[in-house]
Amino acid sequence: MRELDTFGRILIPKEIRKELNINEGDKLHISCIDNTVILKKVDKNICDKCGEKSYTKQLNLCQECMEKLLI
Ligand SMILES: [Zn+2]
Repeated sequence: MRELDTFGRILIPKEIRKELNINEGDKLHISCIDNTVILKKVDKNICDKCGEKSYTKQLNLCQECMEKLLI
């Protein structure tokens, strides 16, 4: 069991970070389903806006979100 600190932070155990290959600076997506908090490692090739597979490595945006930005 882990305790939440005053800022709402919690430590992810070293074993889990190692198993999932989570390192400092990596992004995690946080969601909540049925009283359960889910932390999911964000794939670096995923669109920052919608979570779909991105096609630009530089911007991390999918084609659809890229087109919305250009209009
Ligand atoms: Zn997108």
